[in-house]
Amino acid sequence: MDNVGAYACIFCDIINKNAPRTMYEETDDLVVIQKRIKPRKIELPVNILIIPKKHIINFKHLDFTDPYDATIVSKMVCMAQNISKQLTGTGDFWISVNNGAKAKQTVFHSHMHFKSWEQWPGKIDPLGDSNKKSGAGHD
Ligand SMILES: [Zn+2]
Repeated sequence: MDNVGAYACIFCDIINKNAPRTMYEETDDLVVIQKRIKPRKIELPVNILIIPKKHIINFKHLDFTDPYDATIVSKMVCMAQNISKQLTGTGDFWISVNNGAKAKQTVFHSHMHFKSWEQWPGKIDPLGDSNKKSGAGHD
């Protein structure tokens, strides 16, 4: 994936394996990682990020004449649906995308938030501390 010009981007570092993070899912086009949580925020059992491998700042910067850009959003939603099918209970979930600083985007590499009150067996251990040991900071 061409990430040339993506300087100091934590998501590009993760995608390029320069910053070790557990990838719950990975395809040719995207990765799924744990969201880092601010201290004292309510922690949902599943609070993850679906991230395109291509450095796209946010959805305002999608170029629909580019085949990758033209299909990546549906691939992200498809991944969300696939994860939903692996969840316990109803599999109900939220997805959201922050586009720009005024919309509370903090990492300027497009990503979709996926949250659920259900469990994701085999991926996120509800009895483990994988939600907590991701370190300081948030993304
Ligand atoms: Zn990036």
